[in-house]
Amino acid sequence: MRIGVPKEIKVEEYRVGLTPASVREYVAHGHEVVVQRGAGDGIGAGDEVYTQAGARIADTAEEVFSVAEMIVKVKEPQPSEWIRLREGQILFTYLHLAPDVPQTAGLIASGCTAVAYETVTDARGGLPLLAPMSEVAGRLAIEAAGAALRKSADGMGKLLGGVPGVPPSRVAIIGGGVVGTHAARMAAGLGSDVTILDRSLPRLRLLDDLFLGRVRTRYATLEAIEQEVFAADVVIGAVLVPGASAPKLVSRAQLAGMKRRAVLVDVAIDQGGCFETSKPTTHQAPTYLVDDIVHYCVANMPGAVPVTSSHALNHATLPFGLALASKGLRALVEDPHLRTGLNVHRGRITNRAVAESQHLSA
Ligand code: NAD
Repeated sequence: MRIGVPKEIKVEEYRVGLTPASVREYVAHGHEVVVQRGAGDGIGAGDEVYTQAGARIADTAEEVFSVAEMIVKVKEPQPSEWIRLREGQILFTYLHLAPDVPQTAGLIASGCTAVAYETVTDARGGLPLLAPMSEVAGRLAIEAAGAALRKSADGMGKLLGGVPGVPPSRVAIIGGGVVGTHAARMAAGLGSDVTILDRSLPRLRLLDDLFLGRVRTRYATLEAIEQEVFAADVVIGAVLVPGASAPKLVSRAQLAGMKRRAVLVDVAIDQGGCFETSKPTTHQAPTYLVDDIVHYCVANMPGAVPVTSSHALNHATLPFGLALASKGLRALVEDPHLRTGLNVHRGRITNRAVAESQHLSA
């Protein structure tokens, strides 16, 4: 199959759909890959690296879209990209269609077959193509918290790990899933005093086994959350209720009980945020103060580290992309987990959650 990789055009997006290593895999499996000139610039992979991996470089997005049988991207297509998609063409990328009526209409009108990374499942009910970005966001959350704790960034002026004779910072992580586990790993590695709160006992048992006493676990009652938030220098919000907005777990009134200039990192901001006072921020201006508490609420955290994020994403998408390239639509028939990724096919929405969110029939 002929695969096309356009340069991402969404603002602040530096990741790329296929890394040179992935291109080499596609080519080794007998496929042809066409990459738009400059597509890998954001991860430091120049056109010559893609050529060495076996890709052909195309000068324009128009050419990539017109020759490719499957388009592999990172972000949802923008309006100038919808109009280039066509019937019979496969689109493999993040879509997040549920709240996005214009994009859904654009994909329906195109007639393409759109497979969304975020709805592909695995045998344990997980979301394998979302997990790598949660790993990145979880680890980055602690780096962000460390930076925000500094005096120059309006923080209280405390080091995450302390030094001999000076106690480390206290880090409370609400939600012990993928983001929470990776945040805990980083915080504990730096020497912080870490507590993870979750509502799932099996998850707390697993974390207890994993960290062998290095991290405290606590069942997330309202009281436990309040006690940990009041005692913390850093709070990481990492909860997820699938298909729903994040629950608000820290109210504005509770900020008064926190340490002055403590840091709240709301990773769940892409689901509306789990602190009442959260509002989305950007990498250019990541933090703001409410009642003397520093808030970090960047909605696309992995975008800060496009090199790591692109490689991590490619490792997860590669087997599915290769299956689509080798088998075409038969890959969707044979693999029920890949099939849950199918969101739009020949002018119809094929994902029930997306259809219901837009009051359409699947
Ligand atoms: P996950 O499903 O792996 O983990 C979520 C955890 O939250 C689960 O263990 C669940 O039991 C727990 N939980 C749910 N409700 C709770 C409650 N009331 N109290 C305590 N724990 C509760 O999800 P994840 O992959 O770790 O993602 C976490 C959040 O981070 C999601 O909202 C996701 O969209 C977001 N995220 C944001 C970015 C970003 O750039 N801002 C990047 C990746 C992920």
